[in-house]
This record gives sequence, C-alpha cells and structure tokens, in this order.
Amino acid sequence: MHQNEHSPPYQPIVRSNIDQLPQYHALSPEQRQQIKVVSAVFPFRTNRYVVDHLIDWADVPHDPMYQLTFPQQGMLSAHDYETIARLLRQNAPRDAVQQAAHEIRMRHNPHPAGQMTYNVPNLDGEPLPGLQHKYPETVLFFPSKGQTCHAYCSYCFRWAQFIGVQDLRFAAKESDGLVRYLRQHPEVTDVLFTGGDPAIMKTSALRQYIEPLLAPELDHVQSIRIGTKSLAYWPQRFVTDDDADDLLHLFEELIAAGRHVAIMGHYSHPRELSTPVAEEAVRRLRDVGCEIRMQAPIIRHVNDDPHAWASLWRRGVRLGLVPYYMFVSRDTGPKNYFEVPLAESVKIFRKAYSQVSGLARTVRGPVMSATPGKVLINGVAHIDSQPVFVLTFLQGRDPAWVGRPFFARYDPEATWLFDLQPTHGTKEFFFDASTEYVSA
Ligand code: SF4
Repeated sequence: MHQNEHSPPYQPIVRSNIDQLPQYHALSPEQRQQIKVVSAVFPFRTNRYVVDHLIDWADVPHDPMYQLTFPQQGMLSAHDYETIARLLRQNAPRDAVQQAAHEIRMRHNPHPAGQMTYNVPNLDGEPLPGLQHKYPETVLFFPSKGQTCHAYCSYCFRWAQFIGVQDLRFAAKESDGLVRYLRQHPEVTDVLFTGGDPAIMKTSALRQYIEPLLAPELDHVQSIRIGTKSLAYWPQRFVTDDDADDLLHLFEELIAAGRHVAIMGHYSHPRELSTPVAEEAVRRLRDVGCEIRMQAPIIRHVNDDPHAWASLWRRGVRLGLVPYYMFVSRDTGPKNYFEVPLAESVKIFRKAYSQVSGLARTVRGPVMSATPGKVLINGVAHIDSQPVFVLTFLQGRDPAWVGRPFFARYDPEATWLFDLQPTHGTKEFFFDASTEYVSA
C-alpha cells in the first residue's frame, strides 16, 4: 500500500505549545492576545497540516480556515473577553482563570437540542451512557476514545466534550451496552459512530467498538456510519498514519461482511479538498468500497458564501463524494459570532444549489438538527401576500411528522427553530403539543 515517508506523525498544537508555530509569532500582539484569551474559555487545538496547508496566512484574520480553526475575539462578549484578559494581565492563579472560564462556558448551552436528556436510551431500566437514539432507525454511538478531533472547529457544537468536565461529557467506554441494546431493537438499521471524531482513535481501538456489530443477531444493522472531520483536518489518517492501512482493511472487512460503510465527511470549505493528501484519502476510502458523504453547517466568516459551497460540492462530486447536508449552526457555544440567520442561509443555499449540476443536488439544506427533529427550510413563499418560511421535517421524534410541510412567519432575524412563530394566528406548531421541550 502507498506510504509517504515524508509525512510526519500527528502532533496536536494547543494553547500551551502554540509558541512553536512560526506563523503565531508573525501575528500582531493583539492577535496573539486574542488567541490566549479566547482559548482559555473555548477549546483550541490544531496541527501542522491545518496550519501549513489549509490556512492562507496572508489573509489572516479573515481567512476562512483561520476563522474556522483559531479562536476569535468576537466569540466572547466584550465583558467576558475583558474578564479573562484582565485575569491573564494580572497573572491571576490558574484556578481563578479556570473558574471564570467555567462560568462563561456554562452560559453557552453546552448540550443543545436536549442531547443529555431526551435522546439517551434505557437498557433494562438503566440509561445507557454514550448512546443516543432519537430516530427509530438510527443510533448514535460516542466511543470514549473518540471524543476529540485532529483540530477543533472554533464554533464546535460538541465543545463540551473537550473541556474535561465529566458531567458534560457523553461517551461509552465499550460497545457491550450498544450490542445488547441493538439486540433488543431490530428497527435500528444504522449505527453512527461519532464524537469528537472516531477516526482519531487507533484502528485497534475502533475495531474493538465496531467488530461486535458483525454478530449474526445484529444483521439488521445494515449501515455503519463514521462521522469524521479527519478527511479535512488530518487526511493522513487514511494515507500515511502507521495504521492507515489497518483502518482501510477494517472497512473492507465490514463491506465484505455485507455492511454499508458510509463516511460522513465533515467538509466546511473547498480548500479542505484542495491538497494531494486530501484527494488521496478520498481515493483510498472509495477504493475499498466506502461511500463518502459531505456535510457541514453554514458558519459566518467561514462559508457564508454561495460560491464556496458550490465549489465544495463540485470538487466533491468530481472526486466521487456525495453532497449531503448544509446544516444551520446550533444554538451553543459562541453562536453569536458564527450564526447566519435562516433567511440568509436559504438565499446562500439556493444560490449555491443553482450553480451545480444535478449530481451535486443530492444536498439538502439549510437543515436544523433541532430538539423535535431535523427540519429543512425549503424556502420563502407568500400566503395572502405575507412572506412565510416553508419547512419540512426530514426526521422527527414522531415519524408521522416526516415530510409534512408547515409554515412559519417570515422573520429575517430568526436563527433557529425556536425563534419561529406559526402563521395565521395559530398559537402552536403541530408538533408543539407533543414536544413541550421544543425550545429547550
Ligand atoms: S470536527 Fe466536529 S466535533 Fe470536532 S471540533 Fe469540529 S465540529 Fe466539533
């Protein structure tokens, strides 16, 4: 198999060793201070591949990949920023900085869409940690060794997984509970391994989680999905890492055993598909029979640009990827800095969609993965001369909701489902009666 002798092993760059980066020293003192202040609150991690190959340093701070992976001052309110900056200026004890950072984080909705409460299934009367079962056919599994990523997205909606507070983490140490649960749930056809990024694990660890799913009594599990950003942030994982070949063999075995392996590739910007190693990673995965789908949220300062999306989908299709979702960024973390109103997201989606061929129009968006389900904003229409959003559930807590169109009053400022109001004097959406937690 192909090996690139010149590719160094993965080494994270974090707040404490960022001084090693020559690019860091080329930043202005204000920019360096921003990184130190904001990374005291929100998790920061990158690596030399992202820094050397994905960021255009001549365009920093506006460069989209810099915005995506480096802390930005606007991620904190002016008050919170000054609180941390003052503590750092005063050389305050580490505990004091951490306490202030913790208080700020807890005001940023660490687990949006009811993840910690509504989606955790029970087995024999006990909640199963590290599992979510929101829609009948799909179970999400969070392996504990996969709760980190090769680099962190600054807007990350799973950021609570990375900050070392056990109460906020959501992970399973082994797959025993998953297997027992799946035995009792023949309606489950898809298991999604997610995180963090399960591809951060050594192949031997991932194998321990996945292999038990090949048991004959779990034959109803037909698709194994791997949610990963490694294809963008560390494609070497599939090409030159010392167990890259083992990983491909594992996928090959799953496919030979009759399972569909879908790599849910998190791609935010066309630059992530621009390097030879990123293309090689795609080629190798496809060669062993994996399907790769592309998905990402729309993020202010990163990809709030129809041409970026169209270019991403075109490049993807050329390499054999399947454009899948444009998501709306969730109501968590530094949302104010990154959010794009729904009305604007719809315009961006339509403009991008209209530029690509039918092969890229497999993509759906903008989509909110909200508490009651996955809600697609189809667009804006007029009823009695009044503008309305036209929405549909792609997935619902109640499967009967799926595909049923509904309307919401047009609101140019709305950024999430719970900002929306029903039309024509109706007080509630049809799903509100079953989901009093819709605005959770
Ligand atoms: S890849 Fe996903 S889980 Fe990892 S930092 Fe980015 S958004 Fe968060």
